[in-house]
Amino acid sequence: MKLSLIVPCYNEQDNVELFYEETVKAFKDVAYDYEFVFVNDGSSDKTLEKLRKLYNEKTESNITVVSFSRNFGKESAIYAGIKNSKGDYLSLIDADLQQRPEVVLEMMDILAEEPEYDCVTAYQDKRKEGSVMTGFKSGFYRLINRLSEVKLHADASDFRTFTRNVADAILELSEYHRFSKGIFSWIGFNVKYIPYEVQQRNAGESKWGFRKLVKYALEGISAFSTKPLKMAIYLGLFTAFMAILYLIVVVIQRLFFNTAVSGYATIVVLILLLGGIQLFCIGLIGSYLAKTYIQSKRRPIYIAKEILKRETKEKTDR
Ligand code: UDP
Ligand code: MG
Repeated sequence: MKLSLIVPCYNEQDNVELFYEETVKAFKDVAYDYEFVFVNDGSSDKTLEKLRKLYNEKTESNITVVSFSRNFGKESAIYAGIKNSKGDYLSLIDADLQQRPEVVLEMMDILAEEPEYDCVTAYQDKRKEGSVMTGFKSGFYRLINRLSEVKLHADASDFRTFTRNVADAILELSEYHRFSKGIFSWIGFNVKYIPYEVQQRNAGESKWGFRKLVKYALEGISAFSTKPLKMAIYLGLFTAFMAILYLIVVVIQRLFFNTAVSGYATIVVLILLLGGIQLFCIGLIGSYLAKTYIQSKRRPIYIAKEILKRETKEKTDR
């Protein structure tokens, strides 16, 4: 098998069939064989039925359907897709046709013509979001690039095509809290970035609201940086230093100017300020601890309820 298309699907009932048709159309002239690996991420609509139908009716295509027991998230779906694929090359692509299958062909050409590259990643040429969202996102990338060792390309998407070597490296990183942008950057390899234009979503709506994105951003930072933990040290040093300065001021006032030092407001403010800083730091440590806790349970990244898979038919006219 030359190429595996990994397609995470969460409530994509109106998209999967069209996605299949469009892809087959785009791939009709390619000489190599390819497979679809659909991962149904615990959809609550008719996505699984549609995928079953594709699997049963389109026997001319190589289709695998992995169906989760509940919604585990796109990152888990990607992991499961890679795990159940056989291709020498793999491509991650969304089911909603925002990412055109034709671009996968371009990516494959690049990998064939420029063998020094292991991975081709598409980045969004022009963002179609509001300026608040764009500002928020670029702020996040600046922050995470300062905080962590991994460097993230600001507009890079999950839309990538890569070699089996890269796929094996990703599977090695079997952490429970998966932040795929960070994982892709952490494993290294030579990555080529190509611009692509994001299409309108075909049907249904995006699962990424603002709150989910903020959560995702914080996950990303804590998954790839321990610098926030060290922040507590600097914060503590800084407040201790300020306290000593203030102590000197108070002593001088008392000894040389005989001023009565008024206390009430100062004390209330200091207690609240320090209490706030301390709680903040404990919360921070707690969030890292929580991750270690979950990881120490060694829970699986996903649970598959059902896997539809056939013996693959290799193309003979190659
Ligand atoms: N997705 C998934 N599990 C989730 C959320 C999303 O498998 O919990 C899939 C979804 O079906 C789609 C892709 O991930 O194929 C991208 O999701 P979406 O289109 O909502 O994100 P956006 O394109 O808006 O970033
Ligand atoms: Mg989308």
